[in-house]
Amino acid sequence: MTEPLPDRPDSTADTDSAASPDSAVDPGSAADADVIVVGAGPSGSAAAHHLARAGLDVLLLEKTAFPREKVCGDGLTPRAVKELVAMGVDTSPEAGWLPNKGLRVIAGGMRLELDWPQLATFPDHGLVRRRDDFDERLARQAEKAGARLLQRCNVTGPVLDDRTGRIAGVHARLGEEKRPVTFRAPLVVAADGNSSRLSLATGLRRRADRPMGVAVRTYFTSPRHDDDYLESWLEVRDRPGPGGRLLPGYAWVFGLGDGTCNVGLGVLDASLPYPDPDWRRVLRDWCASLPEEWGFTPEHMTGPVRGAALPMGFNRQPHYADGLLLVGDAAGAVNPFNGEGIAYAMESGRTAAEVVAQARARRTAQGREAALRLYPRVLKDTHGGYYTLGRAFVKLIGRPALMGLATERGLSHPQLMKIAFRLVNNLTDPTGGDAVDRVLTALKKIAPRS
Ligand SMILES: Cc1cc2nc3c(=O)[nH]c(=O)nc-3n(C[C@H](O)[C@H](O)[C@H](O)COP(=O)(O)OP(=O)(O)OC[C@H]3O[C@@H](n4cnc5c(N)ncnc54)[C@H](O)[C@@H]3O)c2cc1C
Repeated sequence: MTEPLPDRPDSTADTDSAASPDSAVDPGSAADADVIVVGAGPSGSAAAHHLARAGLDVLLLEKTAFPREKVCGDGLTPRAVKELVAMGVDTSPEAGWLPNKGLRVIAGGMRLELDWPQLATFPDHGLVRRRDDFDERLARQAEKAGARLLQRCNVTGPVLDDRTGRIAGVHARLGEEKRPVTFRAPLVVAADGNSSRLSLATGLRRRADRPMGVAVRTYFTSPRHDDDYLESWLEVRDRPGPGGRLLPGYAWVFGLGDGTCNVGLGVLDASLPYPDPDWRRVLRDWCASLPEEWGFTPEHMTGPVRGAALPMGFNRQPHYADGLLLVGDAAGAVNPFNGEGIAYAMESGRTAAEVVAQARARRTAQGREAALRLYPRVLKDTHGGYYTLGRAFVKLIGRPALMGLATERGLSHPQLMKIAFRLVNNLTDPTGGDAVDRVLTALKKIAPRS
């Protein structure tokens, strides 16, 4: 290490020194932390928080400095709220969170308000919060738990142990002046988002057979800013007018409660049988088709249209190899049904932390490694079957005729829509619950977990 680190929290000093003599990985070299987490988005901050809470010494490295912009719809379902609660975040309106009751779906000239279900497993509301603020809040929560956050720390590659081939730390550039630094730890969590350079550098590439989406969004000042439903429009075309082709995706309007709305669209572009249109232009055209009094017009835009990819259905695997665990977008954990990524990012961060904490308590190197190898299994047991169903769904909506039929007719069957709503948002009570829970849980169990 060539850079002084933030102080280690006192509470971890004993556990750290206890771990070093018995390190499975690199007994000879002094570690700067028990675990290094690369990236302080929702997955990295959740992982760092839960690791620190379990008593591990965690270094959380983030290439940007908070607050920073993050391209997102800023919408959180009950699944994400549950993860916030698990991190001890105060999600009350007084703390600046805007709750929502459910989702308003618009298609075929109809609109349907679907409330988040009343379940034992999940809260009955969603939230909205801008990512610049949201991500900083989570990173600070990880710090509060004892993780050491280093901002403006751009990880440039892994440190590999010559003897074992395992990851033993990371190289990075730190600060405005981009000083080269090296940090060592026996375990590293790749939470560096969709492009995950760290995974690539260790040979973990994307699976081309998994769905990939793209999404773009912008902000407008709008009288619709304090809507208590998230809103999604299922009919989006690649260009205005009768010749426009229906796209496999949806557009959204999420009020932020601060005078502005996040407006965007997400599309499964990998399933398009023709080259991608200009997504920024598609969003602008769609906005132009909305009532003018909503204010989704160029003069009310408060920022540019920005976009990014949505890596879905576990499109990067294995999720654990040679000391490196993948979480969130780096693991391709976005839900293929609805493009939701934050909940799965936080959930995989928590799961990785739980596995690492268990592994660390094992007495032998072999025992630790066996425990770490459980991580991909746990992820697949939890979401593998559901994501297999998601891939089938992606294939179906990739067929314009079927997508057209679903958007035209779907909303005239509210009961069916309620079931689809639960499936698409992955909101079920796995044990007990109602008939819908039992059917959806059985489907997820039957589907192969890959
Ligand atoms: C337009 C759009 C709209 C979306 N809307 C929603 C939505 O409404 N709800 C929802 O749930 N999901 C949404 N998503 C998906 C969601 O944004 C992602 O799934 C989520 O951000 C994944 O979190 P993450 O922590 O894995 O990765 P990220 O949020 O991408 O965080 C990665 C972090 O790693 C840092 N980093 C990257 N490289 C390095 C490096 N080399 N060194 C150090 N740090 C590094 C980055 O700066 C960043 O802070 C949307 C996505 C897009 C593109």
